[in-house]
Amino acid sequence: AVHVLRLGHRPGRDERMSSHVGLTARALGADRVVFAGEAAGPEETVADITERFGGPFEVEVTDAYRPLLEEFPGPVVHLTMYGLPVEEVEAEIRNSHRDQPLLVVVGAEKVSFDVYEAADYNVAVTNQPHSEVASLAVFLDRLFEGRELDREWTDAECRVVPKARGKRVEPTDNGE
Ligand code: SAM
Repeated sequence: AVHVLRLGHRPGRDERMSSHVGLTARALGADRVVFAGEAAGPEETVADITERFGGPFEVEVTDAYRPLLEEFPGPVVHLTMYGLPVEEVEAEIRNSHRDQPLLVVVGAEKVSFDVYEAADYNVAVTNQPHSEVASLAVFLDRLFEGRELDREWTDAECRVVPKARGKRVEPTDNGE
């Protein structure tokens, strides 16, 4: 299983970015997101999307992320522009995750140095500054080698019918 930890999540700040980290984690093959902070908004958004468009996907909020980081029973990847290039370490990470869960950590503003130390891998998606949403998306796609794009969803109320133009959403058997 792949878990995503989003650090630095504060009420009224970064709400959309936190939601987008959660939605991106869900859409691109992770199994759970943990928001380290106090706000309930992003948690509700992600849970609501999971209810409508399916899962399985878990959402949690914690005010103490250190135990999760320190006691996680598998490799911990911290996404940071200062880390090693993803293209150089992805194969090793994929191997080490084969029979263990993986924790992917993304920050918001300044990430405390103990996160760099607690991580088994500090990984950069380019060494240029950009965004936790973008780095998570590229990292997950590399990790799963694209297979996350045709994931199956269960317990969805509705699904999108792909169309070249226009929008079509239909209820599933669960949603009727
Ligand atoms: N300047 C902050 C620091 O030094 O910790 C980081 C701020 S950045 C807006 C927020 C998050 O985006 C980072 O914590 C990291 O997880 C992610 N991020 C930004 N650029 C990245 C990159 N090139 N590679 C990997 N992750 C990146």
